[in-house]
Amino acid sequence: MRVALIGWSRAGKQKLMSKSMLHGGPRVNATMGADVLVVGAGAIGCSIAYQLARAGIDVLVVDRGDLASGSSGACDGYVVTQTKHPGIHAELALKSVEAFEHLSDELRWDVQYERVGGLIIIRGPGQRAAMERHAAALKESGIQVEMLDRRAVADREPFLDGEYDGATYCGLDGRVDPLNLTRGFAAAASRLGAGFSFYNSVASVVVRGDRVTGVVTSLGFIACRVLILASGVWTAALLEPLGLHVPIKPRRGIVLVTEPVPPLLNHVVLDARYIAVKFGMRSGDETCGAFEHYGVGLALEQTADGNILIGNTREFVGFDRRVAVEPVSAVRSYALRVAPRLGGIGIIRSFAGLRPYTPDGLPLLGPVEGVEGLVLAAGHEGDGIALSPITGRIVADYVCSGMVSREMRACLPGRFDIWKTGVESEK
Ligand SMILES: Cc1cc2nc3c(=O)[nH]c(=O)nc-3n(C[C@H](O)[C@H](O)[C@H](O)COP(=O)(O)OP(=O)(O)OC[C@H]3O[C@@H](n4cnc5c(N)ncnc54)[C@H](O)[C@@H]3O)c2cc1C
Repeated sequence: MRVALIGWSRAGKQKLMSKSMLHGGPRVNATMGADVLVVGAGAIGCSIAYQLARAGIDVLVVDRGDLASGSSGACDGYVVTQTKHPGIHAELALKSVEAFEHLSDELRWDVQYERVGGLIIIRGPGQRAAMERHAAALKESGIQVEMLDRRAVADREPFLDGEYDGATYCGLDGRVDPLNLTRGFAAAASRLGAGFSFYNSVASVVVRGDRVTGVVTSLGFIACRVLILASGVWTAALLEPLGLHVPIKPRRGIVLVTEPVPPLLNHVVLDARYIAVKFGMRSGDETCGAFEHYGVGLALEQTADGNILIGNTREFVGFDRRVAVEPVSAVRSYALRVAPRLGGIGIIRSFAGLRPYTPDGLPLLGPVEGVEGLVLAAGHEGDGIALSPITGRIVADYVCSGMVSREMRACLPGRFDIWKTGVESEK
């Protein structure tokens, strides 16, 4: 698929303004412009900006907050392949893992990526059968997953001495620091000439005729040839006034943080129920009460500083990021079933973040048909950190070449019925 008016070679591109005017942070004024404008300085927007700047494209990132002030600053750092849908989702995760291997060197920034291996805890024969099927399907996508019995799990992870029957193991899985990841992308993008404008809120997207011309922000109008919305859970609100309805909605997750402790966890740990809740399936370990109500699944990760992150919930409660006692105690008591010794470690804080949920679990990546120059890069649910390297590449390749790759084709916004009322543009 070839897309007109997007995609230009480095030599052929025409700048709206001199690049030097875009450098050096939030120096935005009413006459600002960029060839490519990215809304959102989370992991996704910064990864895209890095790839575009690397390709020599004139790019400006605008955010109403600071770096990672949205979901990318209120999340865990799992880079896990086992939790992905077999097929394109798993393939994207695999390509991201390959990119993570050398990302710190490439960005010249320690993103604190570690490929420690991942365990998905299993309880009962129903979960074992489901995970065996899942592992077989992932194998088709190039991801090798082993089935472990309880003893093998306890040998690898002695801290897990509670109730469970076994686990799946994947050596490709690991963790990264989401804040350092976002900062690393942004620092490298900036070094390569990308501009950043923080504390600058985009009020509206301006469309003239059938093409995007820029955005109105709290600091004035910013012109662009290509507008990339990497605005996470807030993307639908920016598109609604154009008559566009994207099915991205916030799905709250609550995480508890322990005091720093000496190394206790050797892997990143999730459970089968976590995957079932994520994809809206039955877990085969039906629990009752608070676990069901708050969509609790197990997620245990120890950061480089020694804090254990205990997660987490999945709830549709709009944009409410408050943390209440009931879900916190549900998350804690659920985790204690598998790791009772967590009970002796102090919880120092908790936080809530919003996952950008989509109905099929895949992000919306690529052009919006009918509005030239408008590109979406949002809706990564609980996978935006893990998929950020590959998302940056896919979106930047599209902007540079005008070609929709196989990966992008599977994630195009047009797979949903997004035009319910027709485009509404300025006359
Ligand atoms: C509890 C929890 C745990 C998670 N754990 C993991 C995990 O282990 N691994 C993983 O891969 N993913 C995880 N995720 C998911 C991950 O956090 C998201 O998928 C990812 O951060 C999305 O990144 P983003 O850049 O698309 O969005 P964001 O980081 O939200 O960035 C969007 C940015 O757009 C800006 N913006 C929005 N509207 C406007 C506007 N009008 N004007 C200007 N700026 C605007 C916002 O300020 C924000 O900074 C988790 C999420 C949660 C909530």
